[in-house]
Formats: sequence, structure tokens, C-alpha cells
Amino acid sequence: MRIVLLGAPGSGKGTQAKLLMERYKLPQISTGDMLREAVAEGSVLGRQAKVAMDAGQLVNDEIVLSIIKERVMRPDARNGFILDGFPRNQQQAEALDLLLMSLGRPLQLALLVAVDVDALIQRLVGRRTCLTCGQMYNVFYAPPHIEGRCDECGGRLRHRGDDNEETIGNRLRVYETHTIPVIEYYQEQEKLRTIQGVGEINDIFKAVCKIFDDVKASTKAESRSDAIRAAIAKHHATKAAAKKTVKKKAATKKKAAAKKTAVKKKAPVKKKAVKKKAVTKKKTAVKKKAPVKKKAAVGKASIKKKKAVTKKKAAVKKTAVKKNAPVKKKAAAKKALKKKVVKKKVVKKAVKKKAARRKR
Ligand code: AMP
Repeated sequence: MRIVLLGAPGSGKGTQAKLLMERYKLPQISTGDMLREAVAEGSVLGRQAKVAMDAGQLVNDEIVLSIIKERVMRPDARNGFILDGFPRNQQQAEALDLLLMSLGRPLQLALLVAVDVDALIQRLVGRRTCLTCGQMYNVFYAPPHIEGRCDECGGRLRHRGDDNEETIGNRLRVYETHTIPVIEYYQEQEKLRTIQGVGEINDIFKAVCKIFDDVKASTKAESRSDAIRAAIAKHHATKAAAKKTVKKKAATKKKAAAKKTAVKKKAPVKKKAVKKKAVTKKKTAVKKKAPVKKKAAVGKASIKKKKAVTKKKAAVKKTAVKKNAPVKKKAAAKKALKKKVVKKKVVKKAVKKKAARRKR
């Protein structure tokens, strides 16, 4: 069993933790005890913790968490533990959850030992602890047979330094501010159980054991049904996975077949498309070329036309020349005739002149 004991300073949770440890053979892990040991040893950690402890304040989370981590991982805590005085604030509670989750061993029970404040102060002021075996006494209502001596082992009894009225006031205020939220935290997780820590220690212990056994049994049943549920879930998951694989395979096959069909169907379409494309291309090319051709044709035609015109002109000229030839001939004949006439006249004149000269 993995259990956290919650309660204000002086609620008796330490006493109940010791009894549980004996009965269920589980280690009691008390951060207060460990810190006090560190202080007594004079270690660096102890020196750091002492200031806060003397003032009734909480020791730095980092220090406390490192102690807890190391302790919870020890082999004797494998089968469970009783945490006493830890967690003292919500951050510590969350850190503990993370740690236990990472170990695969979540917390099973948070047990609150509830006592009212007046009773708490009387308990703390009158509290005495055996330095040898840790047995606890109260000078007001559970005194030892011999003052200052342990009934069990004869060891010396100690009055804790922080069990004075001033520090007690601080510790109770710290509890209210920081630890009450931890109680709510576990309540939300449905792990919280409460017992009244007033009356005979053994009666309180009986109540504690009843809760402890109940939770243990239900956890066992739960873990059994969890195992069954897990097995069923696993079976379902395997089945579902197999079904999924079959479905996936079928879907893949169907897809492949559909693809094939689509490819086949698309093929003529593709061919057609290709043909259409080619035709369009050709047409476009032709269209594009057409003006060129047209231009060329026009050019050719105009050249032809020009040539024809030139030819026609030449022919016309020829004809004109031909036609003009007789005219020309006539003109030449006329000219020659005129020349002849002029010549005749000149000759006649000359003859006449000669004849006149002779007459003279
Ligand atoms: P306790 O014996 O549990 O009453 O603790 C005695 C003192 O040790 C407290 O007043 C704190 O100063 C310190 N302490 C014990 N446990 C813690 C804790 N979980 N976080 C911080 N300080 C602690």
C-alpha cells in the first residue's frame, strides 16, 4: 500500500504512522524526522533546513523533494510506504504524483487525521518523544511512568525545539495556508479518507486500520478487475487491430482496383485528349501560320499580278508599237515624199535659175 498521512502538527499522524509501519511492515517515511536527522548531522542540507524549521516555516521544496525521491526509490519501499508529513503543499503533492507515476506505482490512499486547533496546541506543548525508540508521550494526558524516561526502552525523552507556543502558532498557520489545499487536491482525486484523531490512540488506530484494509481490498479487487479489464481491452484491441488490418488491406485492394479501372477508363479519354490536343495544336499552328501563308500568298499574288501587269503593259506597248508602225511608216513616207517634193522644187528652181542665166 502507498499511503499519505495528512494532519496538522500534533494531530497524531506520526504516532499512527509508527503503528501502521509495525502492523503492515511498511516503511514510515517522515520528512520531519529526516530533516531533523540532517540537522543533527550538521550536513549542508541540515544547515539549510534548520533556519526554516526553527521558524516553523516549510523547508525549500527542492530539498524536501530530493530527500523524498531518494527515499521512495529504496528497495524497502517497493511494496509500499507510509508518507508522514509529506506532501505539505500542492507543488509537493503534484511532484509526488509525477514521481510515483513514473515508477508505475501511484498513490492509493490519503488519510487525514482530523483534530481541532485547541486540542492540537495542548498536544504540541505537552509532547515528549523518546530519543532512542521514538515512542511518544504527552505530559498532560499520556505521561510516562518516570518523568523524562521512556516506558518502553528507558531512553531519554525530548521536548522538540519547535514545540514551543510561538513556533506552534507559525506551524498551524503554514498548515492552514499550504496543507489544506493538499487535502482538497486528494479529495478531487477521490483518494481522501478522514478519521477523527481524538480519543484513545488504539481506538484511532483501529479506525485507521479499517480504512487501510478497505482500501487495500478494493485496490486488490480493482487491480484484479483492472487486470481483467486490461486483458479484455487488450483482446478487443488486438481484434480491432486485426479487423482494421483486414479492412485496410481490402480498402487498399479496392483502391488499387479502382485506380486500375480508372486508368483503363481514362486511357481512351487520354488518347482522345491527346488527339484533341494534337489537333488543337495543329489548328493553332495552322491558324498561326495561316496569316504567314496568306501573307506569302498575297505576296506571291501581288508579284504575279505585277508581272502580269508588266507583261500586259509590254504587250500593249508592243501592240501600240505594232499599231503605231504603219503610222510611223506613213509619216516616214510622208516625210520622204515631202523631202522629194522639196528636192524637186529645189531642182526645178535650180533648173529655172540655170535657164534664166542661160537666157541672159
Ligand atoms: P514535522 O515533524 O512533520 O512536524 O516537521 C517539522 C518541520 O520540518 C516542519 O515545521 C518544517 O519546517 C519541516 N518539514 C517537514 N516536512 C516538510 C515538508 N514536506 N516540506 C517542507 N518542510 C517540511
